[in-house]
Amino acid sequence: MFGPKDESRTPLSSIGEFPLIEHLTAAFNMYHKETVLGVGDDAALIKTPLGQQQVITTDLLIENIHFDLAYMPLKHLGYKAVVVNLSDLCAMNAQPKQITVSIAVSNRFTLEAVEELYAGIATACNAYKVDLVGGDTTSSTTGLIISITAIGTANPSKIVRRGGAKANDLLVVTGDLGGAYLGLQVLEREKQVFKVNPNSQPDLSPYTYLVERQLKPEARVDVIDMLKDLGIQPTAMIDISDGLSSETIHLTKASRLGAVIYEEHIPLDPQVISTCEEFNMDSTTIALNGGEDYELLFTINQKDYPALKGNPNFTVIGHMTNEQEGVHLITRAQTKIPLIARGWDLLAAQNPQD
Ligand code: ADP
Ligand code: MG
Repeated sequence: MFGPKDESRTPLSSIGEFPLIEHLTAAFNMYHKETVLGVGDDAALIKTPLGQQQVITTDLLIENIHFDLAYMPLKHLGYKAVVVNLSDLCAMNAQPKQITVSIAVSNRFTLEAVEELYAGIATACNAYKVDLVGGDTTSSTTGLIISITAIGTANPSKIVRRGGAKANDLLVVTGDLGGAYLGLQVLEREKQVFKVNPNSQPDLSPYTYLVERQLKPEARVDVIDMLKDLGIQPTAMIDISDGLSSETIHLTKASRLGAVIYEEHIPLDPQVISTCEEFNMDSTTIALNGGEDYELLFTINQKDYPALKGNPNFTVIGHMTNEQEGVHLITRAQTKIPLIARGWDLLAAQNPQD
């Protein structure tokens, strides 16, 4: 895509800003009646349903800080950029409704490249039924910058903050952990191999789940619906963008509590276990500190345990304690070790702090 000049590619400079915006946004569907006015005027108009609260979150993604186009296809990047924002809305127990998308592109990008990015954004909008209602388009002298803002709604009594947990509440995680980080390691390794031998054909088949976790993460809106159906109102919640360790510490700090997590209960996919063996990594360390899984971590009152017991989407990994007890991992050998928020710091200096 960024190789020698290809005559079949359209330079962005040949289009102009407004036709570009029109072209990129024309095919988007509008799913919500609350979206009164989307793209095309000076601002969008959104109705807030009576008694609901608006929930707003934003994320900024910068090329070579947050993503590497050497192994991140633009379509996946567009999809993931939307998903990471929707995940933040899920973590508040809110329903995603609208997004705005702002991009800065350098002239090294072609129209076809930006179209790919928007194809990913559109795929996410259709998958999650969210309306693209605006954005901004500008040029950049270096890389690609994407900023997405997501807007959702929630009944004020259903909103879940980080600080609502009580001592003895159960700590629950959705899905499994560590996959996205290992997917990045696999892609990073293939990139190095490719640099040495551009004709090499990577065999990613043993790592399909991991690569998908890295390149096509999903926001757990399904969990928001499930909790509603089960009649469970989490007492505190956060999404796992940095790693289980650091997110647990966020919940304990905000709730002024301690916590214990049991190593043997941390959910791991078989591919995470086998790839950790191959890479000579400790799977618990990866689950605790690898980021970008976008699962949800929440606390529930013990009375709600029977409602989610045996449900494959949820794993109880520990419980909250008094603040003085600190935050600990109980290992398989029954050793108690303090949890620290190492996140990306420890794992890879080249990876982002967000
Ligand atoms: P203004 O000059 O008032 O900032 P723009 O010309 O930037 O307006 O935008 C015109 C319309 O197109 C607005 O509705 C804006 O929200 C929308 N828009 C601009 N860039 C994008 C983009 N990259 N993606 C989606 N919508 C966009
Ligand atoms: Mg503008």
